[in-house]
Amino acid sequence: MAIPLLDLKAQYNLISEEINAAVKLVLESGEYILGKNVIELEAAVADLCGASYGIGVASGTDALLLALDACGIKPGDEVITSPYTFFATAEVISRLGARPVFCDIDIDTYNLNPNLLESLITPSTRAIIPVHLYGQVTGMVEILELAHRCNLYVIEDACQAMGAEQYEKKAGSWGDAGCFSFFPSKNLGGYGDGGMVVTSNGEIAARIKKLRHHGTDQKYYHSLIGYNSRLDEMQAAVLLVKLKRLGQWNNQRRANAALYNQLFNDSGLALPVEVPGSKHIYHQYVIRHPRRDRIIEKLNQSKIGCAVYYPLPLHLQEVYRGLGLQPGAFPMAELAARETLALPVYPELSSEQIAFIAGMVLASVA
Ligand SMILES: *Cc1c(COP(=O)(O)O)cnc(C)c1O
Repeated sequence: MAIPLLDLKAQYNLISEEINAAVKLVLESGEYILGKNVIELEAAVADLCGASYGIGVASGTDALLLALDACGIKPGDEVITSPYTFFATAEVISRLGARPVFCDIDIDTYNLNPNLLESLITPSTRAIIPVHLYGQVTGMVEILELAHRCNLYVIEDACQAMGAEQYEKKAGSWGDAGCFSFFPSKNLGGYGDGGMVVTSNGEIAARIKKLRHHGTDQKYYHSLIGYNSRLDEMQAAVLLVKLKRLGQWNNQRRANAALYNQLFNDSGLALPVEVPGSKHIYHQYVIRHPRRDRIIEKLNQSKIGCAVYYPLPLHLQEVYRGLGLQPGAFPMAELAARETLALPVYPELSSEQIAFIAGMVLASVA
């Protein structure tokens, strides 16, 4: 029984009729960029998040980049974020000429440890980017309290967390802006690249709308140096079909995670921790064990997909050598990089498949 880490073809097969019809309508419409599907998707995603505005862009990376740009982040500024995330989170800070300042994570949630933030704030600090890693919202109450006190922007990297909640408030609606990715492997993924910023700040929304389209809101009159970063109609039409099912898919991921937790009870594996008040949507189901590499070997032999997110924390990446950070600088991020492993958790998995995967994992650590 070969089981991939993610099976996008299985998902497509379940919804292909509706997807094909939606794509055909776009093809026949003659309107391919920033048309009515994008407008409808922007409203629907903003609504789902409890935000006032949604602005479709070309990727999750660009959502972060344009949000930071709209907040005026510039060379010399410092932006605090996690060293244990996908590279794009820090890359966009550097792309604007600002400096990423890393803050260690909480080993239970793999999210920023809010208790460590305050000591990192300097007169140059302008913003914090909490990353809702693997689908669980970071401790936003503490982060927002600090941000308000120190007058900092908060841009949520919610690329892995569409539909996740904390105290019934959705990912993306806590900070000044929330950023999402529609990369195919995300919980709401298109058939290509795409992204969105949500915000309830009208000024930030208006700036991002201009930035994504060469700094203009009036054709051929430009008031900002912008980007070409637009969401296309084909992706938006696909995403509208999928968005209707996101709640159901996220619940299925939660049920799959609950089944793993039950099967791994008392196994010595560190399991994902869902903190009180949190609704985790398990973009990834991630376990931790000192003999992680043995588990990988066993799963590879059994043709079960698994992956290490992320093997090298950002402060130890070659490109950030200039920051002068050594191994040991962020012990929890480094521990997570050494010991974590993501198992298949996609909605279409059967309970038999989950039991089979769990059995292989348990055999490898016995
Ligand atoms: C996927 C992802 C991104 C980047 O999104 P793209 O659409 O691939 O550009 C940024 N941050 C995190 C945490 C992600 O998972």
